[in-house]
Amino acid sequence: MLEYAPMDIKNVTVVGGGQMGNGIAHVFAQAGFEATLVDVDAGRLALAVATIGKNLDRQVQKGALSEANKAATLARLRTEPDLETAARHADLVIEAVPEILELKTKIFQTADRVCSPAAILASNTSSLPITKIASATGRPAKVIGMHFMNPVPVMKLVEIIRGVDTSDETYGAIHALTGALGKTPACSEDFPGFISNRILMPMINEACFALMEGVAKKEDIDTVMKLGMNHPMGPLTLADFIGLDTCLYILEVLHDGLGDPKYRPCPLLRKMVEAGRLGRKAGRGFYDWKDK
Ligand code: NAD
Repeated sequence: MLEYAPMDIKNVTVVGGGQMGNGIAHVFAQAGFEATLVDVDAGRLALAVATIGKNLDRQVQKGALSEANKAATLARLRTEPDLETAARHADLVIEAVPEILELKTKIFQTADRVCSPAAILASNTSSLPITKIASATGRPAKVIGMHFMNPVPVMKLVEIIRGVDTSDETYGAIHALTGALGKTPACSEDFPGFISNRILMPMINEACFALMEGVAKKEDIDTVMKLGMNHPMGPLTLADFIGLDTCLYILEVLHDGLGDPKYRPCPLLRKMVEAGRLGRKAGRGFYDWKDK
């Protein structure tokens, strides 16, 4: 196995302060990095900081973090509405905006323009091609996928995706950085859905088909996978946590990118998204989350 020296990464800018972005900023700040969280929506930024505070409190209550470390973590965390201002001093930019290629490409182009030539640009995309995002910048060797799992402070895995032009040096730096965050890296080549969603999404899709075809009630589908296969949660509950719009989008990427009808999104999933039942974040998906 190749050994890489960790790059000198101190300042990290996280773009998008939603479900994933706030968790990514949290783990970087807690691991001793200066973390700046950027979002176009001031309300989301405020919510992100409140969520990080709440999650740190939970760690303190469990005895996993001292009050002093909590205060130091919060002191390393900043928010900034403007990407150009934040990215100027970044050694690493991690983009975690919605799964829309044009939006991500624009953010990479801005970061590429303002960041120092040494900076690495990473995407937390669940499924979009890193090679395509990289080719929109002038530094494809320094572009990489850094796919965190939800909830970021809890989940140990980071899937690292190498684009066609990602250099060994960039890969090595991100591999070492993942370890410094206390997480475990797994490397994937740049194919639709990478490893995680190439395998997970067909299972979620099949659970949707089973529900749509009346094979079983949603609770029974989830119970079988939970107790029978020892999954921590059933596939329909998991889909609600991920967001049904995100699941649908990833299935479309798999279907388009691999051209195999086995990845066709289940019509029930599509219907749920059209109805605005996007899962936990919308208060309703396969299950009702309003009071939870
Ligand atoms: P989200 O909708 O919760 O958050 C996205 C945030 O980006 C929002 O706060 C929004 O205001 C902000 N945003 C939009 N445009 C912006 C811009 N131009 N500049 C700055 N901020 C902007 O989405 P999420 O669930 O956090 O997903 C983000 C990314 O992470 C997606 O690519 C998704 O596929 C990926 N991902 C999601 C999960 C999951 O379980 N939800 C898991 C792994 C990866």
